[in-house]
Amino acid sequence: MSAHTIDHKVAIIGGGNAGISLAARLRRAGMTDIGIIEPAETHYYQPLWTLVGGGRAPASESARSEASVMPQGVGWIKDRAEGVDPDAQTVSTSSGTTIHYDHLVVCPGIQLDWDSVSGMAESIDTPQVSSNYRYDLAPKTWQMIQKMRSGTAVFTMPSGPIKCAGAPQKIAYLAADYWREQGVLDAIRVVLVLPTPGMFGVPVFAEELERVVARYGIEVRKNSEVTAVDPDGRSVTITDNSAGTTDELPYDLLHVVPRQSAPDWIKASPIADPENPAGYVQIDKNTLRHNRFDNIFALGDAGSSPNSKTGAAIRKQAPVVAENLQASIAGRPLTAQYGGYASCPLTTSRKTMLLAEFDYTMQPAPSIPLIDTTRERRDMWFLKRRGLPALYWNAILTGRA
Ligand SMILES: Cc1cc2nc3c(=O)[nH]c(=O)nc-3n(C[C@H](O)[C@H](O)[C@H](O)COP(=O)(O)OP(=O)(O)OC[C@H]3O[C@@H](n4cnc5c(N)ncnc54)[C@H](O)[C@@H]3O)c2cc1C
Repeated sequence: MSAHTIDHKVAIIGGGNAGISLAARLRRAGMTDIGIIEPAETHYYQPLWTLVGGGRAPASESARSEASVMPQGVGWIKDRAEGVDPDAQTVSTSSGTTIHYDHLVVCPGIQLDWDSVSGMAESIDTPQVSSNYRYDLAPKTWQMIQKMRSGTAVFTMPSGPIKCAGAPQKIAYLAADYWREQGVLDAIRVVLVLPTPGMFGVPVFAEELERVVARYGIEVRKNSEVTAVDPDGRSVTITDNSAGTTDELPYDLLHVVPRQSAPDWIKASPIADPENPAGYVQIDKNTLRHNRFDNIFALGDAGSSPNSKTGAAIRKQAPVVAENLQASIAGRPLTAQYGGYASCPLTTSRKTMLLAEFDYTMQPAPSIPLIDTTRERRDMWFLKRRGLPALYWNAILTGRA
């Protein structure tokens, strides 16, 4: 092998939520010879960005050095994966290194396609537009919300799978509640643009969210999405996909969420799902093993399993991949199954939260006994603000939960 070849029994692409939690689990199970390919120096707890945009947490609390979350005994390859050759069992990187693996786990997250809507990429550099989907922009969202005293505020969600499908509406509620507190909500037209026919895919949570939008007087444009942004004219084009109509809406504040898809290099690789243009790694939705390559697994946002793309899903996926990977290495059948669990902590005000938990059946799948989590609750706020971040840094990333 050349000087630029590294060899690992298990190679993991991506040291985000999925990659670190899985590697930590494998180390706890006694596995050695694991390498993580991860170019970034900083690891982010992205769920906090909603609270940053809503003025309820500092951005700095969501960031830690990658070195501090890297499990001991794991080889950190500070490089960007660019291609996978499943026949040669290699990953190629941008620096020209080749990593040879026996087993591969693919979890580089999802790609934000800023350019897929005309004008959106340019608009985020203007003072009226922001997005909680970027660490550097989430504090700007809060500055914009604080300055707003009257006019039109538009919050958008794109069509297609995105990470945390609840985040585009959570920030609308945090903003509306702040404006209510400030006594200016009546002077602000709040518009929420959703591509879906309902507020949420699970009826019991959708009904609760209908009550929330009615409370704030939010105008919801369902089956609709923003198809162009004009940052100079400060207006968005909204397409109603069920009626087949478009209209222009002027804005004074705009919170955008870009369309999302698998990273381009995954789309172009043999491990992508050839049937699906979104290009996610084609895996069995229960075992999380690749449909065609037995020694490849995927979890997290980059996998094709049809769950809601969330960290909550990864909490249930990581133990399944850890167990099935060990079974595959030992030549045993795969027995661990992922049932599609995901959850969405929907911040419905600056003090309340609705914890929507569900699985592949799209029925509620509550994990907290005795309390009714189909309603927005004050105690759940503390779970979102304090409990979940602590769980993430201390237990999930260390492979204990
Ligand atoms: C605003 C917002 C709010 C959210 N709210 C919630 C919430 O309330 N609850 C919840 O459960 N989830 C929430 N999420 C979703 C959650 O953050 C993601 O689902 C989760 O981080 C996905 O984990 P991942 O490991 O697949 O990807 P990530 O955590 O994004 O990690 C991917 C890693 O791969 C690395 N990488 C990328 N490309 C390459 C490459 N070519 N080679 C090597 N490494 C690469 C990246 O640097 C990164 O470290 C939210 C997300 C956002 C943006």
